[in-house]
Amino acid sequence: MKIKVLERLLNIFFPILCGICGKEDFFSLRLGLCGECIRKTRGIGAFSRCNVCSSPLKGKEACVFCDSRNIFFDRALSIRDRNDLLSEILNRLKSRKEFTLSIFLSSGSRKILRKLKELEFDACVILPSFKKRSWSSGKERPFLASSRLCKEARDILGIPFIQPLLKSSAEKQAGKSFSERFFHAYRSWKIHPSWENRCPSRILLLDDVFTTGASVNEASRVLKQNGAKSVYVLTYLRTVD
Ligand SMILES: [Zn+2]
Ligand SMILES: [Zn+2]
Repeated sequence: MKIKVLERLLNIFFPILCGICGKEDFFSLRLGLCGECIRKTRGIGAFSRCNVCSSPLKGKEACVFCDSRNIFFDRALSIRDRNDLLSEILNRLKSRKEFTLSIFLSSGSRKILRKLKELEFDACVILPSFKKRSWSSGKERPFLASSRLCKEARDILGIPFIQPLLKSSAEKQAGKSFSERFFHAYRSWKIHPSWENRCPSRILLLDDVFTTGASVNEASRVLKQNGAKSVYVLTYLRTVD
């Protein structure tokens, strides 16, 4: 209740403007995005999806994604399908221009997380996007776009966050071709020595976007090789084409 009052006061003195067009309305105050921009984020609607990776099937019987490789995660879910505006929102968030946009990106996560709660996860893992050494020496800690999603997961699931994955390559996935991403992902993660062969059984893996799925798939493989029995993935966005 106290938080609600504080939010209202903050809205009066520092209203949250739409992180894309700068307009202030009922929605921007609550979600960081105005009503008009929210409408533009909407996808083309429901279609049948693969029940493992959530790729649209578009009338095809088999899932192209799951059929073409070994899948190590049990299920991948995303809050929204990515379109141009949603990509822009994520880019702005990543470049720290508009932190309030993470309120919008994570909206809808609570509904999914409440369903996932039935699966009784043991721990949450955030996919690290940087090498630990690069910030541990007193430098500013890199910003994690999925931090709001982590907060929601923490509130709803009430399970510990652990960090058993280490990024072994400092290269970034963005800007790489589809095949490069697969090759690159293969050597991107390794297990933290203290988690070797002792990962918790049921893990929820969080990341900002599911593009080719290479990163989360490879991370799931590493987690399963080290004791995890099931790995579910949740991201803000996924690419659907
Ligand atoms: Zn707007
Ligand atoms: Zn699939």
